[in-house]
Amino acid sequence: MSASIRRLPAETASRIAAGEVIERPLSALKELVENALDAGARSIEVRVERALDAQFSVADDGVGIAADELELALERHATSKLASVEELDRLSTLGFRGEALPSIAAVSRMKLLSRPEAAEAAAFVRVEGGEVVEHGLAARSRGTTVEVRDLFHNTPARRKFLNSPTGELRAALRMVESYALARPGTGWRFVVDGRERFAWAPAGSHRERAAQVWGASHAEQLLEATLQRGGYAVSALLGLPEHARATREGQVLLVNGRWVQSPALSQALRHAYGNLLPTGRFPAAVVWLTVPPDRLDVNVHPTKREVRFADEDTVFSIVAAVCAQPLATIHPPFAVVGGPGTGATYPAASEASGVSTSPRVREGAGDISGGQMPLLLPVAGGDPRAELSSAFAAPSPVTVPAPVVREFADAAAPREGEIWQLHRTYILAPVRDGLVIVDQHAAHERILFEEALERLRGVRAASQGLLFPALVDLPRSRFELLLEVGEHLKQLGWDVMAMSPPTVVIRGVPGAFRIEQPGHLLEQVLDGIVERGPTAQDQLLERVAASHACHTAIRAGDPLSPEAMRRLVDRLFATSLPHGDPHGRPTFVRLELSDLHRRFGRS
Ligand code: ADP
Ligand code: MG
Repeated sequence: MSASIRRLPAETASRIAAGEVIERPLSALKELVENALDAGARSIEVRVERALDAQFSVADDGVGIAADELELALERHATSKLASVEELDRLSTLGFRGEALPSIAAVSRMKLLSRPEAAEAAAFVRVEGGEVVEHGLAARSRGTTVEVRDLFHNTPARRKFLNSPTGELRAALRMVESYALARPGTGWRFVVDGRERFAWAPAGSHRERAAQVWGASHAEQLLEATLQRGGYAVSALLGLPEHARATREGQVLLVNGRWVQSPALSQALRHAYGNLLPTGRFPAAVVWLTVPPDRLDVNVHPTKREVRFADEDTVFSIVAAVCAQPLATIHPPFAVVGGPGTGATYPAASEASGVSTSPRVREGAGDISGGQMPLLLPVAGGDPRAELSSAFAAPSPVTVPAPVVREFADAAAPREGEIWQLHRTYILAPVRDGLVIVDQHAAHERILFEEALERLRGVRAASQGLLFPALVDLPRSRFELLLEVGEHLKQLGWDVMAMSPPTVVIRGVPGAFRIEQPGHLLEQVLDGIVERGPTAQDQLLERVAASHACHTAIRAGDPLSPEAMRRLVDRLFATSLPHGDPHGRPTFVRLELSDLHRRFGRS
């Protein structure tokens, strides 16, 4: 038996429709902000109580709504912004559907208070679940205030699927920041639970607004790009590679004054950064894009968050090209300020600090460290520091005496200089305008990765022979893999011979690395190659290099001498992608001196 078709009661229908426009508290707040901007507001105040859960409001000084139109504004498909379907093609307002106010009203307790310039007083209506429950007059200067309480109180199912309140508040702050960037000429105030979060006066430029949002020192570092061509205009403030994030959260994309998501634009931005960023890192940037209104479709989704370009390729190439220009100037990122006697500025840095202690090694034939940084030097047997190395020892199928115990000390006495190790994990190095904090493992991984790639494509690295060749039984699958990648490992300095399966003999290991457990290290490197995804041949070298780097790099917990730290930092900034390790994790963060001055009230 089939169910008969019935018309839904109006109330049910409007709640369902409301669900499309108002997915979450943030969407309601965003609609109110967009309405205020459409009304020509010069100043907007957003108030939030208990992270949007209890109440929020948006007040503006825009054109206002006439008293006799207040209830009309709450009707579905009632709008002052669109008179005919043709106008959809030359839209200059953020709103056009006439759906926001009725949708919010259907699922909340709302008060709409407004006064147009000419009116003698302000008028208000209060609505609950879409029904007007009160109207009257009130005092207010020109403009409109929309107050929303108890959102979704009559749609309990929706309430259940909401984000955490703090997550919603964070999203709301981000939305307001984005619109503040979209309209620098508008003043903004944001109040949370009665306390002012920020108040930004109208700004004269994009950069001035960026300074209000992120602080002057950050805004100063942003690179600028602008272009006008045909009906297109692009303006961008681009974050340095070190500001990149693991998500697109650092991107604010503004198209024709509208805050949007656009995969095409995000990709163009990523393209502009090229190999300044490792995979998995997303640039932080604001892009203001203007396109001819008839080349933009904003009517893709009820929340208007997505847009489509009629000429996607044009948009991509314009944005990618214009943003790439200022980025072309930023390698290297900055110079490390050395202590007395060390080289000061890049690119001479690695020269200056690497040579002085060990010119012999620099010229040394095929040292795996590329002759630049003999990080590890032999330490006499029985040295208490040898315990450091044995701490890394893990059971190996065949145990061999560790013929050479190495650690990260220098034969030469450490020079005085401003470089410190923190918790044996981070290196603190002063740079011209502040301090960089380097993750020693991630940094070394990046260095070794690039060196390994070079080795794999070029000159074979030297191998350090083991006093006692190590016999190792590998798991069957690893034995097979070794047959496949053996040549590559040889390039990196391994001297390994396959015997009858599953036994191999290790006669030498890459120079300059910890070799206390060669069998174990070999297994780890092989495991790492497998873990790194599909086996497309063009990626095999990268995977070999990445695994090699990961397992041979110094680790958190390894003590480093000042000299070794200095060389590590110099070498990091001499790599092609100093900002991230091969997994896309950042290798360093930077603290600005000006920021410290500001925090200590010096400026
Ligand atoms: P839309 O923005 O798509 O027109 P809304 O439901 O958001 O639809 O708003 C309906 C109408 O109410 C708007 O077209 C506008 O005329 C009026 N309105 C809403 N908010 C404001 C405001 N803050 N100031 C002036 N008018 C407003
Ligand atoms: Mg609207």
